[in-house]
Amino acid sequence: MKVTVFGIGYVGLVQAAVLAEVGHQVVCVDVDQNKVDNLEKGIIPIYEPGLTPLVKSNFEAGRVKFTTDAIKGVEHGDVVFIAVGTPPDEDGSADLKYVLAVAKTIAEAMTKHKIVINKSTVPVGTADKVKAKIAEVQESLGKSISYDVVSNPEFLKEGAAVNDCMRPDRIIIGTNSDGAEKKLRELYAPFNRNHDKIIVMDIRSAELTKYAANCMLATKISFMNEMANLAEVFGADIENVRLGIGSDPRIGYQFIYPGCGYGGSCFPKDVQALARSATEAGYTAKILESVEAVNYKQKEKLFEYISGHFGNNLKGKTAAIWGLSFKPNTDDMREASSRVLMEHLWEAGVKVQAYDPEAMEETQRIYGARDDLTLAGTKEAALKGADFLVICTEWQVFRAPDFELIKQSLSEPLLFDGRNLFEPSLMQEYGLHYYAIGRGLSI
Ligand code: NAD
Repeated sequence: MKVTVFGIGYVGLVQAAVLAEVGHQVVCVDVDQNKVDNLEKGIIPIYEPGLTPLVKSNFEAGRVKFTTDAIKGVEHGDVVFIAVGTPPDEDGSADLKYVLAVAKTIAEAMTKHKIVINKSTVPVGTADKVKAKIAEVQESLGKSISYDVVSNPEFLKEGAAVNDCMRPDRIIIGTNSDGAEKKLRELYAPFNRNHDKIIVMDIRSAELTKYAANCMLATKISFMNEMANLAEVFGADIENVRLGIGSDPRIGYQFIYPGCGYGGSCFPKDVQALARSATEAGYTAKILESVEAVNYKQKEKLFEYISGHFGNNLKGKTAAIWGLSFKPNTDDMREASSRVLMEHLWEAGVKVQAYDPEAMEETQRIYGARDDLTLAGTKEAALKGADFLVICTEWQVFRAPDFELIKQSLSEPLLFDGRNLFEPSLMQEYGLHYYAIGRGLSI
């Protein structure tokens, strides 16, 4: 099938590569010339396990192409994906300007029937806006070409995106058109062999399903963080509580890890966007507002422990930080807890020596060169001459470190763990002063 994808980001690029891999002919369009040039040279703009060889082999086989030529892009595809960003507006609601810009481009360039598939995460009612935009532009150009607008939200997880697109848990198709449904079933048939994962529904339900999924996951995290804070208040250990509640199959062990808050490009903005669109519709989404507020506070937690330990006297200290990306297996630093921590530390006059397996370039891009930030080549190098260690991201390589070396390298045997990776009793044996989330203030 001939497929066009607008937006070569995490979603667009992975989706395009996976569709090309099963034999579809894919053209990717982006406004970023640099990104397109790099992709043509085999330089992949993001880190995602398995993505580089997949993109390269499909590019070499001619099944995926990259361009900034939107007209050519629209001409190519029978189905046209919109996979551009929907960043938060000033008030937290989703900004639809990129989505509507693509809708306008499609309307201007289309010369035959198109199925427009919205993959971006968008508020309920956006498909109607896309439809209206295409109709309005066509009318202004004296055109009247038929088209369908389908909602097909994306559920990939950064860090496991290729696998998630190759083996999706579900494929949600929001449409009221039999023709569009048939075409999408054909498009996704290669991913639907094991059992039927396609769920067809009305467009508004499909749009809300995406927000409901992310908000549920964010709620689980904020709930556990609230319990972790209560564990501190009451002198309990949240890790025992986690195991105790996870054993109930109605609750389960998945996604109930306490920590220093969620980040990334999706949970923070999607919780906010759904809460704001609820408010606009006259409904106060109290749970969502609390999920957001709890997470905001939780991101302050590590700094609170650190400044508490030093009696607010941090000036001149050096912090070693392990983990900068918002979660493991990605270089994405959007809304990462590490950023909140680093910015507080800098404000308090602390120097940072940081290490992350993939997000060093991104850190450099965000913060540029500054005297109080050193990007270390290894996790061990980050420790040298530092006063304490903080873990912000649970990368595998941080899970069984050399504790003796940590102790020897730091001026104080002091570890702040934002992801609860270690047993407090073991830390005690190693002679490390250990702070973790919800496990007793300091052990
Ligand atoms: P991204 O910021 O990584 O990429 C968006 C791309 O769109 C950029 O390359 C940008 O240059 C391009 N773009 C902007 N305007 C354009 C235009 N008019 N024409 C062509 N390209 C244009 O974004 P992302 O993380 O891939 O997210 C895209 C959407 O998918 C968002 O709505 C997001 O909420 C949703 N989503 C993201 C994830 C995720 O894990 N990142 C998962 C599921 C859904």
